[in-house]
Amino acid sequence: MSNYKFQYEDKEFELKEDNCDYINNEEVENFNISTVLDLLNKGEEVGFTVEYYDSCCEECKFNRKDDTKFFEFLEYHFYIFTKENNYVLSTISPEYQEVTLTSLVRDKKIDNSHIVSILVCKNCGTWAIEVEQCDM
Ligand SMILES: [Zn+2]
Repeated sequence: MSNYKFQYEDKEFELKEDNCDYINNEEVENFNISTVLDLLNKGEEVGFTVEYYDSCCEECKFNRKDDTKFFEFLEYHFYIFTKENNYVLSTISPEYQEVTLTSLVRDKKIDNSHIVSILVCKNCGTWAIEVEQCDM
């Protein structure tokens, strides 16, 4: 498994199994930290943006934005498709460029979709993965 590195402003972040706080995935089989790192490495247009949350990073308890009660995280999300709860494909997989959603559904290769959110603490780089069912 390879780690995923990216630069945001002047800081370099490295996502790896060691500094992954949790993966919240109750439904999708064959989809874990390693799959996510692999997808991020292969994805061509991965880009993180700043998002504000009302709870702090559990790891460093830091990251507070000035005097507000919001906390800064870097976030990126993409979608994945599943068949009988097994991971099939994501919107950042290179293979995704070659197929259409309509044909995947028509050929019964997929029957559900989920949104995957990656949250990275802007201070300590601890990250987390949330997987939630969502209709596309
Ligand atoms: Zn942190």
